[in-house]
Amino acid sequence: MSVLSERPGFNKAARQHYLSLAKGSVCLVTYIWIDITGEYLQCKTKILDTEPSGVKDIPEWDASWLRDGRVNEVLLVPVRMFRDPFNLDPNKLVLCEVLDSNCVPTETNQRSQCAKVMEQVRQFHPWFGLEQEYRLFGLDGQLFGWPPQESSATQGYCSEPTNRMYGRDICTSHCNACLYAGVKICGTNPEGKPSLWEFQVGPCEGIEIGDHLWVARYILQRVCEDFGVVATLDPKPIATARGTSGCHANFSTEEMRSEGGLQHIEEAIRRLSKRHSQHLRVYDPHGGKDNQRRLTSQRCTSSFFDFSAATAQRNVSVRIPGHVSRKGRGYLEDRRPAANCDPYAVIRALAETCLLGITGED
Ligand code: ADP
Ligand code: MN
Ligand code: MN
Ligand code: MN
Repeated sequence: MSVLSERPGFNKAARQHYLSLAKGSVCLVTYIWIDITGEYLQCKTKILDTEPSGVKDIPEWDASWLRDGRVNEVLLVPVRMFRDPFNLDPNKLVLCEVLDSNCVPTETNQRSQCAKVMEQVRQFHPWFGLEQEYRLFGLDGQLFGWPPQESSATQGYCSEPTNRMYGRDICTSHCNACLYAGVKICGTNPEGKPSLWEFQVGPCEGIEIGDHLWVARYILQRVCEDFGVVATLDPKPIATARGTSGCHANFSTEEMRSEGGLQHIEEAIRRLSKRHSQHLRVYDPHGGKDNQRRLTSQRCTSSFFDFSAATAQRNVSVRIPGHVSRKGRGYLEDRRPAANCDPYAVIRALAETCLLGITGED
């Protein structure tokens, strides 16, 4: 790690003294919300007199919202509570929706619309599982752990050798912190490129997956802060470096998971094939621009412009996993969402196209 990378970590031993001070029976609740970029999170902490038993016990709270150079006020509405893996029990993390001064969801509050759609498709029991890839950087702006003499452009495939495994502490610490918090993390893996990692969340029914993924992202940023590294969800943070980051969306309905489910998976894929451009518009926070850099048809990525699907192949838009095909039921995997996607927009599009039968332009 570079000297620069050590700076913001401060001295954790010194901090330990303050954390060990008795502070009475108060409860620290850290409010987390998606900011005006739709891509990044903000937080602030409120001290409650007693431990809340659920979101209903956590008060709404105002926050400032910088828009076009002006500071407005917005309302934070708690929607899902987790245990706090940083301040520990009884402290909480709480994910919030953001409403404007007229109590209307702000433009980056995609959860609100998504929740309505999830309500409409409730009878299908839609499950989602997301695979969040991220890339680690040092605070010097270099890919984390990469020897400076080794050009990022020449990096080949990476497997287990010690000198190429950069950042495992982040991956394992993040996983443990998610488990403590109650985030439904279900796996982790290093990717084929140094300092590129993945964790998976799910399966969750409906809107819950978006809440769990956003809180998992928050926890990732906090863990990285403690280690003095930076995780980016940019799908291609260095144009010349190999390796891109996605957020594959796995999706199923009760029918798909049951006997004869494969035919329902194939029907969903037929519907998806007719709305490729509509999906790509909402699969990254910049209307498709980020995915245009990522989905170049090169090195295991599919085409930004054309839809493709296959069984047990990974250079396609949508894949039927091999084990699903063999069993004849299960789920499909949409490989197009970028790592920085808003999961609420992704699962909403999947539900609208596959379950509500929405066709054509939106
Ligand atoms: P890959 O082989 O694409 O790397 P992973 O093992 O990384 O797959 O991720 C699989 C994802 O699929 C996980 O997020 C998991 O929660 C999700 N998943 C598993 N079963 C289902 C299902 N029936 N419906 C939706 N998602 C599912
Ligand atoms: Mn995976
Ligand atoms: Mn992966
Ligand atoms: Mn995948």
